[in-house]
Amino acid sequence: MPNTPPDYCPNCGGRLEPVDPPAVQHCGDCGEYEFYNPIPTARVAVLDGASEGERASLLLVKVDAADRDLWGTPGGMVEAGEDPDVAGARELAEETTLTVDPGDLVLFDARTFAKFGDVQKTYLCYAVDDGDVSGTPEADDEVAEARFWTPAELAAADDRLLTSWPESYKRPEWWVEEGRAALDRTE
Ligand SMILES: [Zn+2]
Repeated sequence: MPNTPPDYCPNCGGRLEPVDPPAVQHCGDCGEYEFYNPIPTARVAVLDGASEGERASLLLVKVDAADRDLWGTPGGMVEAGEDPDVAGARELAEETTLTVDPGDLVLFDARTFAKFGDVQKTYLCYAVDDGDVSGTPEADDEVAEARFWTPAELAAADDRLLTSWPESYKRPEWWVEEGRAALDRTE
């Protein structure tokens, strides 16, 4: 079930009054406050290659939809009780069969945005070097394809990343540049 601001009080069914909409509403009947929060989502940029002065390849997964040719970095929603880096490693494994130690994921960006209308997401973007990842990418749960895109492919791919993302996230080279910079800082 996607998160959207509640239309009525989940506690008593009463009418909600705006306090700080859409984040906070108040039920005039039972007095409860209702909070509307974004869903934390972990995405993982697996970077291959990129020695000094070279451009890296980036692992992308294709959305499992027959009528669309849209790709994105692997990832998904953080589950209850789960740390975001563990969620990133889990989603990477579920979508591509690749395994990684969550401790090798380097956080390099975090943004909150409306993904589809009212559905608010907080993206936690992680980078990891392919050398710290085990396996060969294969499409698994929920994706149609999983493979590394070469620098040339990435440069020509601007309109094929998920359209619901913020502008910077739609640029595949952004994931490469920001992810590689973050990995270089940790060395
Ligand atoms: Zn109520």
